[in-house]
Amino acid sequence: MKRISILGATGSIGRQTLDIVRQHPDKFKVAALVGQKNVAALAAAALEFQPDFVAIADGNAYPELKAALRGMQVEIAAGEGAAVEAARYDADICMAAIVGIAGLPSTLAAIEQGKTVALANKEALVCAGPLMINAAKKSGAKILPVDSEHNAIFQVLEQDNQKQVQKIILTASGGPFRNWPQEKIQTATRAAALDHPNWSMGEKITIDSATMMNKGLEFIEAHYLFDMPPDQIEILVHPQSIIHSMVAYQDGSILAQLGPPDMRVPIGYCLGYPRRLALNTASLDFTAIKNLSFEPPDDLRFPALGLARSALAAGQIMPTALNAANEVAVAAFLADKISFGRITEIIDGAMQRIENAPQNTIQELLAADLAARQIAEGLI
Ligand code: NDP
Repeated sequence: MKRISILGATGSIGRQTLDIVRQHPDKFKVAALVGQKNVAALAAAALEFQPDFVAIADGNAYPELKAALRGMQVEIAAGEGAAVEAARYDADICMAAIVGIAGLPSTLAAIEQGKTVALANKEALVCAGPLMINAAKKSGAKILPVDSEHNAIFQVLEQDNQKQVQKIILTASGGPFRNWPQEKIQTATRAAALDHPNWSMGEKITIDSATMMNKGLEFIEAHYLFDMPPDQIEILVHPQSIIHSMVAYQDGSILAQLGPPDMRVPIGYCLGYPRRLALNTASLDFTAIKNLSFEPPDDLRFPALGLARSALAAGQIMPTALNAANEVAVAAFLADKISFGRITEIIDGAMQRIENAPQNTIQELLAADLAARQIAEGLI
């Protein structure tokens, strides 16, 4: 029986994690659940899974949550620091599925505790890659990638042949605007950007997929997770989302992981690791697959990829600035304050205006995050 804490339990990844726990009540016990403000969903999950600890980040929601869980034997925490408390709570696995840099303190706390961390919260790693990897080395924490692409790489990366890896090939669906002309992308509506062809996900990552910043963030994520130089990470558009990523070795062999586009597969892989769980997911029907196609990404129509590459090349605070400006711009687009095309313009503008500086501590990281946010807000 593994004890599992879920940070971001009410979101897309959190709900799918709970679905796997629901399928395997003999293998998992929910230790802690964390949400931000959706009391109804958090309370419903708590009543069903009976965790020992429930945390809500929005302090104002505490009375409502307490009332909803009246009569239940459970510790409740609220406000700033509640998610970190949940991350430190007694558990074997911590699912880090809070969206954005907001998830960094709790994700890092779970790593520092030496827990096995199933990492969905890619923004934390993009901003704090070296800090998180070093903390994991120090505490002995295992970081298991939830992102389907990195999970695929993790599954086919041979520990004994890491030096013989020629390159990692990160596949990308291309998002809803893969075939759109540049002018049409610039003025794409909120509804069109949220209409992802293959995946059903939270709003922020869905917009990131439409700009292809998601692949940019994943490029940086792959660099830190697998200690892979940027020039050995290739991005390849594969619209069917069946091959979830590949590793090419020096002998000409390419190993790939295939599966239906269903996040419960990589989530289940992380929860069961090192064993595979039986899951009630659809299996691939090869006779029904008419075409597996591939194309290079178009950096002109999707400038986010180039921005992410240059942020990683510049290093220091630049990946944090990229992420912060992206979070601000995506929120502004979702709030109908800016057009779709402005998202990457604002990120570019923020990266040009911020002065690069060392980032060796969390304090320096948070200062860079704040500065980039202010610049991006100013540009909006
Ligand atoms: P959602 O928007 O669906 O869910 C976000 C979750 O985070 C919710 O539970 C939300 O709580 C919680 N949350 C937000 N802000 C805070 C905060 N300040 N403190 C505590 N909790 C907070 O996002 P997704 O599930 O789509 O994505 C989560 C992460 O996983 C992201 O980093 C994303 O990039 C990554 N990911 C997601 C994939 C997917 O298929 N969805 C695929 C691969 C990676 P509340 O509901 O109360 O607001």
